[in-house]
Amino acid sequence: MKADYHCHSHFSDGTLSPTELLELAIQAGITDLALTDHDTLDGLPEAQIAAQSQGINLINGIELSCTWEKQLIHVVGLNIDPANSVLVAGVEQNKQRRLDRAEAMFEDLEQHDIFLRDSVRELIAAKGVPTRPHFAEALVQQGYAKDKKQAFKRYLVRGKPGYIPMVWPDVEQIGAWISAAGGIAVLAHPNRYKFTRTRLSRLISDMLKAGIQGIEVSTSTTDKQQSAMLAGLAQQFGLYASIGSDFHSKDQPWARLGGAADLSKDLNAVWNGFN
Ligand code: AMP
Ligand code: MN
Ligand code: MN
Ligand code: MN
Repeated sequence: MKADYHCHSHFSDGTLSPTELLELAIQAGITDLALTDHDTLDGLPEAQIAAQSQGINLINGIELSCTWEKQLIHVVGLNIDPANSVLVAGVEQNKQRRLDRAEAMFEDLEQHDIFLRDSVRELIAAKGVPTRPHFAEALVQQGYAKDKKQAFKRYLVRGKPGYIPMVWPDVEQIGAWISAAGGIAVLAHPNRYKFTRTRLSRLISDMLKAGIQGIEVSTSTTDKQQSAMLAGLAQQFGLYASIGSDFHSKDQPWARLGGAADLSKDLNAVWNGFN
């Protein structure tokens, strides 16, 4: 078994269609894949069809944004029922927050004579939900930044003209949505928040109260030492351990599909919790 339980398609900020994603998963030797687009379930039907024809076990997933102690936290929901009405209503809320934020970002940038509506719309087409990486891409296309990284730095982070502070649902709400849909909720890329171990432990305690039962231990950007630290937290708190590359596109060599290192055998892998 080779699992990758965190990746994106063009239904959010990934570049591949779910069908193309499944083809790449086969090339990467993946047997078990979860599609986890940001705040949308819309890519899952196409992914399931492609998974059946490719012979891959596809787990229905999602990556939800939430706010904890004023920080943006990402939680991945795995093995969810995408038809569950509680989850669907929650996802719809987050999607609407994204649409409202996009409108506010357009207006803010227009005050600075930057007009991105058409480019961003074209990038998203009829498919996905608007994300900041879409704005970054549009800013690069129009020559306002040399690459996406610079676009973020100049326009899309706190204090910059295109930045709109967001209040996402709290961890309790996200946990409830994923539990209602029969899924297992997993803290995404814990190393990316740059929390101390103490603060991470506090987040995990709050997550557990919210029914969030897992943590990504192996990701594209966790080195051996970080994975060992996260494995320690998983064991200390009795959490399921998950593995995910956070793949978005082929031109990000630091996050290849299937690129996260195998989970150590002494951990309770998240697939043990699927029913
Ligand atoms: P959003 O969920 O729309 O606010 O966008 C968040 C996504 O933007 C994250 O998942 C990252 O992939 C990306 N991102 C956030 N900050 C940066 C940054 N400083 N440079 C490049 N990408 C970033
Ligand atoms: Mn993303
Ligand atoms: Mn994320
Ligand atoms: Mn992600």
